[in-house]
Order: sequence, then structure tokens, then C-alpha cells
Amino acid sequence: MDLQFSVEDIRFRDEARAWLHDNVPREHRPHAGEAMRAFDTAWQLRQFEGGWAGVSWPKEYGGLGLPLIRQLIWHEEYARAAAPDNHLCFVALNHAGPTLIARGSEAQKSFHLPKILRGEVIWCQGFSEPNAGSDLASLRTQARIDGDYLVVNGSKIWTSHGHLSDWQELLVRTDPEAPRHKGISWVICDMKLPGITLRPIEIMTSPNQVHFVQCFYDDVRIPLGNVVGAVNDGWNVAMSTLGFERGTAQVRDQIRYAYLVEKMIAEARRRLGSDCALSDDVIGARLAQLRADMAAARAMTYMVMSRAQAGIQDSQSSLMRAMVGETQQRARRLALDILGPDGLENREEDDWVYFYLRSFSITIAAGTSQIQRNIIGERVLGLPR
Ligand SMILES: Cc1cc2nc3c(=O)[nH]c(=O)nc-3n(C[C@H](O)[C@H](O)[C@H](O)COP(=O)(O)OP(=O)(O)OC[C@H]3O[C@@H](n4cnc5c(N)ncnc54)[C@H](O)[C@@H]3O)c2cc1C
Repeated sequence: MDLQFSVEDIRFRDEARAWLHDNVPREHRPHAGEAMRAFDTAWQLRQFEGGWAGVSWPKEYGGLGLPLIRQLIWHEEYARAAAPDNHLCFVALNHAGPTLIARGSEAQKSFHLPKILRGEVIWCQGFSEPNAGSDLASLRTQARIDGDYLVVNGSKIWTSHGHLSDWQELLVRTDPEAPRHKGISWVICDMKLPGITLRPIEIMTSPNQVHFVQCFYDDVRIPLGNVVGAVNDGWNVAMSTLGFERGTAQVRDQIRYAYLVEKMIAEARRRLGSDCALSDDVIGARLAQLRADMAAARAMTYMVMSRAQAGIQDSQSSLMRAMVGETQQRARRLALDILGPDGLENREEDDWVYFYLRSFSITIAAGTSQIQRNIIGERVLGLPR
């Protein structure tokens, strides 16, 4: 492993930093609805037009075709510049797109990838079902083949931003007789198709705002050409998707949390005096532990990225997912302990309570911490099931 950045990497970083300095939108990002969609897609388009979208994506689909390490640098600079997270583009950019690059047909890639990079489309993920979350392979949404179409019936739940999406990465059971992992297909679903209805779900962090929907499919006809990989091989395709979702997709958050810890240290100093770590041993020790954990997470990120760069996509991303998620929860909790009652003040930029409440979801989404530990035990450490 070479831990040095090359001269070209450093030049790339300088250019990225300068561009972000001049172009990051400074206006407030709306938190819901069409206004949020307009903001996120416009920001994605600006990145595309500036020549910064899809750093490691193939050139023929509008990307820059650069090594993964430059993608990492871009994420680092993005977080450093406090650029707004375009959450609505997250699925498309971070796991649907990479899955299509890895497993999609030529037609699927050339149709979808450029639109994703230009921010023209929003994707959502239709994996979880009311009785299939951690045990994803027990999913029951059915798709029967009828001529050139799949006819889908069933339901998906916890679909983030499904109501604002154009496309969905959808897992369906195409062979109910086959063993659980063998009869599943990964399908590109047009969210505007007849037979799809959406039921909004409110969340505790933002009452009256819709984050999730439950999707119902009633004889929805999806062209067979929308199956990614082979029919009944969707479990393997989904494992690629989850690998991206748990791994490289988390890099930006991980860097952002490292900045958060530094901000908390500054806040603790301000409140408790210049020698705060000494004046409150417990807070000081917790801050020091967090800073150390963030440094470890960064080292782990570099390891996961350099393995991915070498073409190794394995379960190490679960290490990163579990560690970063849990560290972030501890950071959000500690932030409230440092701020005390002041944390209850709802401030536009630093809404500590909102982020504290939201932090509980981090160790559930993309597979719970317990599931990540199962994966680490079985696939990284080789322990018996
Ligand atoms: C913010 C957020 C966004 C999400 N977005 C999406 C999305 O866009 N699309 C989508 O498809 N899904 C989405 N999800 C759903 C998410 O993938 C599931 O919630 C998650 O996989 C857990 O499934 P579940 O909720 O059914 O819980 P369950 O699987 O019922 O788990 C309940 C508890 O049991 C534990 N448990 C279950 N099985 C085991 C086991 N074998 N070993 C040890 N412990 C176990 C779990 O860890 C958990 O604590 C989202 C979730 C959140 C919180």
C-alpha cells in the first residue's frame, strides 16, 4: 500500500478545492418536497457542468474516468467545503449508478448513467418489505413473466424519497419455487407506471414531512429489458448494491463527522474554558475517544478504497459502516451533553436535537449494526454461521 498522494492527486485536490470554493451554493437547502428536489438536481447539474460529476465513472457515460482515489479526494474536499448534501441524488450516484456500471447492460448504462450525472433523475431503493428487512432474502414481492414483461405485485416499505423519485432499484421474487437466494431479480422500475401507489410515512425528526413511503404494486408491468443481470440472479446484483451502499457511499459522511468532532471540541473549549479537557475529565475523555475513532475510521476508509481500487469488493465495507454509524451516534449524544439546555434551541445551521434524533436511524439504514456484525463475523473473520 502506498499512503502518499501523487503529484496529480494533489493538483486534482487543489482544483477541486478552488472550484468548490467558488461554486458551493450558500442558500439554505429546503428539507422537503419539490423545492428540495429542485435544489438537489440544480446543484448536481452545476457539478456536472463544472466537470466534477462521476469522478470515477467511465468517460463514455459522462464521468471523468479517474481512479477511485480521486473520488475519495473529491468527497474529502466536498465535506471540507461544507457543500450541501444532495440527498435526493444519493441512491442514483452512490449505489444504483455503480450497480449499473458493474452489472448493467450497455443499453441500461447508456440510457441511465448520463441522466444520473446531470441530475435529471432521482432514484430510490425498493429492497425492504414489511417482513423482510434484516432478512432481505425472505422478500415476497412477486414478479411473474408475461411475454416481454414482468408483472409485479406486492409491497415495499421505508422507501426513502420514493414520492420524489423517477426510478427505483427494485428487488422482486421471480421464482417462488427456487431456494430463497436464487429466485430474486434486480429490476429498474419506472415510478410513474400504472399500478404503483405510494403511502407517505412521517418520521419523528420532522413531523408533517415525508421522508419515507410504502409502495404498493398492483399488476405493475415492467419490461423484461429492465432486469439488471440475469433473471433470478438478483441476489448477487443486490450484494453489489449493498457493498457500494455500505462502503464508498459513506465516505463523505465519515469525513463530515470528523469535522463535527473538531467543531464539538471547539465548542467545549468555548464553554468550559481553554483547558476544558482538564476541567471536565469525562467530556475530555469522550472527545479524545471520538477523535481517535474518527482517525481510525479514516484509516479504514483508505483501506476499503484501496481494496476497491484494486478490484476487491468484499465485506470489509461492513466494518466501516458499523464503526462510522456508531461513532456518529456517540458524537451526536456528546454534542447535546456539551451544549446542555442550549442544544434545545432550534438553529438553522446546527440543529443539534434534530441530528441527535436522526442519528438513531444510521445504525438501521443499509443494514442494522447487528447485521453488519454478523457479516463481519461470518465473511471477514470466517466465524461459523
Ligand atoms: C433512515 C432509513 C432509511 C431507509 N431507507 C430505505 C430505502 O430507501 N429503501 C429500503 O429498501 N429500505 C430502507 N430502509 C430500511 C432498512 O434497510 C431496514 O430498516 C433495515 O434493513 C432493518 O430492517 P427492519 O426495519 O425490518 O428491522 P428488523 O429486520 O425487523 O430488525 C429488528 C431488530 O432485530 C435485529 N435483528 C434482526 N435479525 C437479526 C439477526 N439475524 N441477528 C442479529 N440481530 C438481528 C436487528 O438488528 C434490529 O435491531 C431505511 C431505514 C432507515 C432507518
